[in-house]
Amino acid sequence: MAQNIPELYGSLVFNDKIMRTKLPKDMYKALKKTIQNGSHLELDVANSVAVAMKEWAIENGATHYTHWFQPMTNFTAEKHDSFISPTGDGQIIMDFSGKELVKGEPDASSFPSGGLRATFEARGYTAWDPTSPAFIKDRTLYIPTAFCSYSGEALDKKTPLLRSMDALNTQALKLLRILGNTEVRHVTTTVGPEQEYFLVDKELYNQRKDLIFCGRTLIGAPAPKGQEMEDHYFGTLKPRISSYMHDLDEELWKLGIPAKTKHNEVAPAQHELAPVFDTTNVSVDHNQLTMEIMKKVADKHGMVCLLHEKPFEGINGSGKHNNWSMSTDTGVNLLDPGKTPAENIQFLVFLTAVIKAVDDYADLLRISVASAGNDHRLGANEAPPAIVSIFLGDELMEVLSSIEKDEFFTGHGVVQMDIGAKVLPHFVKDNTDRNRTSPFAFTGNKFEFRMLGSSSSVASPNIILNTAVAEVLRQFANTLEGVSAGEINHAVHKLLKETITAHKRIIFNGNGYTDEWVEEAQRRGLYNLKATPDALEMFISPKNEALLTGHNIFTKGELYSRYEIKLENYIKTLHIESNTMAEIIRKDLLPSITQYMEQVARTASLKKSVIPDISVSCEAAVLTKLTSLSEAMTAGLDALKRDTDTAEGCTDILSSAKTYESIVLSDMENLRKSADEAEAMLPENILPYPTYGRLLFSI
Ligand code: ADP
Ligand code: MG
Repeated sequence: MAQNIPELYGSLVFNDKIMRTKLPKDMYKALKKTIQNGSHLELDVANSVAVAMKEWAIENGATHYTHWFQPMTNFTAEKHDSFISPTGDGQIIMDFSGKELVKGEPDASSFPSGGLRATFEARGYTAWDPTSPAFIKDRTLYIPTAFCSYSGEALDKKTPLLRSMDALNTQALKLLRILGNTEVRHVTTTVGPEQEYFLVDKELYNQRKDLIFCGRTLIGAPAPKGQEMEDHYFGTLKPRISSYMHDLDEELWKLGIPAKTKHNEVAPAQHELAPVFDTTNVSVDHNQLTMEIMKKVADKHGMVCLLHEKPFEGINGSGKHNNWSMSTDTGVNLLDPGKTPAENIQFLVFLTAVIKAVDDYADLLRISVASAGNDHRLGANEAPPAIVSIFLGDELMEVLSSIEKDEFFTGHGVVQMDIGAKVLPHFVKDNTDRNRTSPFAFTGNKFEFRMLGSSSSVASPNIILNTAVAEVLRQFANTLEGVSAGEINHAVHKLLKETITAHKRIIFNGNGYTDEWVEEAQRRGLYNLKATPDALEMFISPKNEALLTGHNIFTKGELYSRYEIKLENYIKTLHIESNTMAEIIRKDLLPSITQYMEQVARTASLKKSVIPDISVSCEAAVLTKLTSLSEAMTAGLDALKRDTDTAEGCTDILSSAKTYESIVLSDMENLRKSADEAEAMLPENILPYPTYGRLLFSI
């Protein structure tokens, strides 16, 4: 049956069209003003919106509402209240007030707060974010909200994200005015996150404790075939996958999530989904929903969606590409080179600002994507290295060099780099997007930040990106402020030139996967923060604290709370992995090996009982090898236990995290070697868990 997709799209969203039809005109206008300018929302408007929302929600089958928020985990949280309100005569009405819309009080004291709530208030409250539309899911009206403590400390990811978007707007507007742009009233950042994921069969998944507890396999011998044939990338979709993707698209479309592109990825069983970009806040909310719906739809199809950054050893893990730009309310993308000299100047100023921001805050960008899971990808020749650098492409590089050298740019025979004299070439996407190894690539009219892990919220990297760029825009505006109209082009040229000279070290157009680059980056003085604990240490450095508190993204308390939560999260993740690995090897793998050795030994003695002088060297070889592997595993388990205890016993969290990273992780790697070698010798009917071959190739 053909579906009417335009009708289906956004059918579960309280969107602009619904608001216009449901709200009195003056209320609609007041709400739009709040959404567009962030102005204060009066209670009568809130009441009017609440009534309209409730009516619409009930018409669409909802019985409950929830304040949906994003605590400092990677998940979203919700507590459902029904609309019912007793009238005192045994009857009820369906009720929902402006007050209930605007503010909620979840009993959320168990969410991580990094010590914030202890110092402030026991409970937090949720506040409606009218810039992200409400929607219906599972017969509940979902209201996107920010989550704060009573003293206003942010306890979530949305609050700092909104603050960072504000900071960028403020600084970008200031700079645009100085550049002579008087029309723009608002600048917003835009994001299109490409999401990678794996699909595995649910029955097989349920037999793997490591997948269940950790989201990734901790052991597993390689399958005879991996991704070497590159036959999966963009390959034909198998019927079961195709049907999954179809359902997924429809569920997302109903929620107004513009799922656009879907394809198979490089690794077997790996896929990708990309939506059309939106304002950052909405994109972040949509990405959270997308991850949730991916899992839910997979379950309906008898599969499990793995969002972990590295579910399988030896084949690619999953990331997210964060396509990012800045756009004005007049419809101009500030990272689009444009067609006129004035647009060109604007473009070069904003482009250069991003370059400087990435160089100045490369450590923070790395930190913003740091997690135990993502450490398995970054620098592993499948994802960008842990070194942050920018890819610009040869053409744009030439433009910048000619600015730096005060030379004419003749690359395409048209451009003279006396700023504003002529028009920049149009950077076609094909010319700018060839380098897939770069962590931060210019792709024609946006940057693509490629270091993100697949499971994390995209809020953190965008908070940092927005704020770092806001800071540089602020510095640029300060430099150019007060320059006369006659002098401005010259002053801009000087600023660009100085900035390029000071920050070109961050630009690297070569292959980021090579060892030469690692050495070169070190010579250039770039950060190479390989593991999460090393990176996190820099989170609270004076430079980074100044940035984040200076733009009111975090108070010092909020910053430290996030630092603690990230470290604790790392520690807990590794603790669970260590426990899980010990359990699988001790309780499942070693007993299976014993069972197999028994069979082999019995075979040998049976053979001998029939033909006394027969050779049993095959059996003996198996027994010898399995015995030595079992011994190695037993010793490995002891070491793992001892070192995990040491890590847990550290009194400060940074040393605990570092101990996990430097010692416990290698214990796990050592154990894995023996386990995988033993696994490869066991018959499949004795092996206590499904192999990589079955997990990766059975759908
Ligand atoms: P790919 O990177 O796979 O070649 P595209 O370049 O077509 O794919 O787009 C990737 C993502 O970038 C999509 O989600 C798209 O909507 C998003 N995107 C395009 N323009 C912008 C922009 N100005 N700001 C943010 N994201 C954008
Ligand atoms: Mg991409």
